[in-house]
Amino acid sequence: MIKEEIVQIRLNPANRKYYASFGYTGEMGEFIDVLTTHLTKSSETMVTRVCDSCGEEKVMQRKSVFPSCQRCVVIAQNKATGKPKPTCKDCDKQLTNHNTIRCKPCHNAFIVGENNPNFGNGDKMKGENNPNFGKRGKDCE
Ligand SMILES: [Zn+2]
Ligand SMILES: [Zn+2]
Repeated sequence: MIKEEIVQIRLNPANRKYYASFGYTGEMGEFIDVLTTHLTKSSETMVTRVCDSCGEEKVMQRKSVFPSCQRCVVIAQNKATGKPKPTCKDCDKQLTNHNTIRCKPCHNAFIVGENNPNFGNGDKMKGENNPNFGKRGKDCE
């Protein structure tokens, strides 16, 4: 928002009617006192901008005023468009590799044991599940 202060502007044919709508009267070419909040949006008069989000004050031309400071705009944009940063499914650590759902240590821990796609294959190939089961034994006898 714009801090309410009194500044001087010069009336010209373009802005006279605009300022008249706020009750300011004066002759063409006359300097009048107006509130910064009443300046035209394209005014180059310096005003104090107070960030709507963090309250930071900055002096700038009225035409350059954006309700929030640059930093808050960026934060707001990130909030609006940024996907939440991926975190590890198990320990909530932030992931650097976006194609995984677990951090490396958790991933390694996860694939050990029955979650390992190869888990049990070794066992299946042993004993009676092995199509060759028994053959070797016979051959060896
Ligand atoms: Zn701010
Ligand atoms: Zn983890």
